[in-house]
Amino acid sequence: MRRIDPQSFVRATRLTTRHINRQIVLNLVREHQPISRADLARKMRLARGRMTQIVSELVAQGEIYIGPTMQTARGRRPEMLFVRTRDRLVMAVDVRLSRTFLMLGDFAGSPIALESFETVRDPARLITEIARRVRAMLKKHDRAKSCEGIGLVIPGMVDQSSGRVLNSPQLGWKNVDVRDSLSRSTGLPVYIENAPIACALARMWLGEQGVAVPQNFVYVTVSDGVGTGVVVNGELVRGHSHTAGEFGHVPIALDGPVCLCGARGCLEAYTSNIATLSRYLGVEFSARSAHDLTRTSGLTVGDVVDRAKRGEQRAIRALEETGRYLGVGLAGIINVLNPGAIFIGGEVTEAWSILEPAIRAAITDRALTARAASTPIAAEPADSHPRLRGATALVSARAFAAPKIA
Ligand SMILES: [Zn+2]
Repeated sequence: MRRIDPQSFVRATRLTTRHINRQIVLNLVREHQPISRADLARKMRLARGRMTQIVSELVAQGEIYIGPTMQTARGRRPEMLFVRTRDRLVMAVDVRLSRTFLMLGDFAGSPIALESFETVRDPARLITEIARRVRAMLKKHDRAKSCEGIGLVIPGMVDQSSGRVLNSPQLGWKNVDVRDSLSRSTGLPVYIENAPIACALARMWLGEQGVAVPQNFVYVTVSDGVGTGVVVNGELVRGHSHTAGEFGHVPIALDGPVCLCGARGCLEAYTSNIATLSRYLGVEFSARSAHDLTRTSGLTVGDVVDRAKRGEQRAIRALEETGRYLGVGLAGIINVLNPGAIFIGGEVTEAWSILEPAIRAAITDRALTARAASTPIAAEPADSHPRLRGATALVSARAFAAPKIA
């Protein structure tokens, strides 16, 4: 039972039913494409005439298209419907501590062009550089007209109403406007989101066709920082003031090392890439030395992963330890939220065969029921660019979302 908020509600109008059915049809086509009008009508238990009307509207609005006709056993050839994704483009931007990535891709997240540059810490200069590159990429590919917006993911908390980055411990930003200034300098709508939340969105909207995504799941990103995107009942949890899901800053040791956020013993300080690298190098984790560590050692977490895969014991132990701490954090998530699945994205997932047993053991020790202990945990392949797909989903998922009613 969902309570109607007397302070903030959306009143139903004559168009409400029509709008809901339109969105259901669009999502059914997306899930089952190619699909005929007759099959759609059957799945929705809707009269054929009404279905034809909704499909015509969606075709006219450019949301779906009629594909090549197919021969059936009885010789009739129904027109098959597809969601239009190929010629609708999105500029996806992933701002990370070390580098910023830009991908021009279609609505389904298939890349057309990809480039990256070293992240500039000053927000105004960074936005100028992103805007310059966006314009250049669109011009080079002659696609400015079909780009429907920019999806921007940031390692930090974002106020969705103002588009301001509230706090990004990694970038050192507090209350910075990004959305509106990037929109002004590119002339495109900009949607901005915290990276793990965007990755959860991509799972929800750009997952593989036919693979069911649970209505309750958590996406954990392990990179320069550690964050989570929490989905409950098919909706992202943002919290009262847009900072929900910061599991990376749940303490797992009261006197642990100082995290980037300034507090001691956060999960992130034990499981981020820099934590794994520090462990491998045998130096104490220090948030301030994050940059220096890679510079002085010449190593990244990718090197640790490679060495572990080649059988180097020290690298294997460092990753197992990361897995153990990660498992403790995931057990906490499981006990609090009881998700249907947990997805993990990040470079360390390349060493999944080393991480997984350590994660599983920690969860088994702490989960409160056998069923909770067997929560599916899946690693997202690092080469699938989950954060850029998340940035893409910020723009494209809007077309498929349920209408906000009541
Ligand atoms: Zn922290």
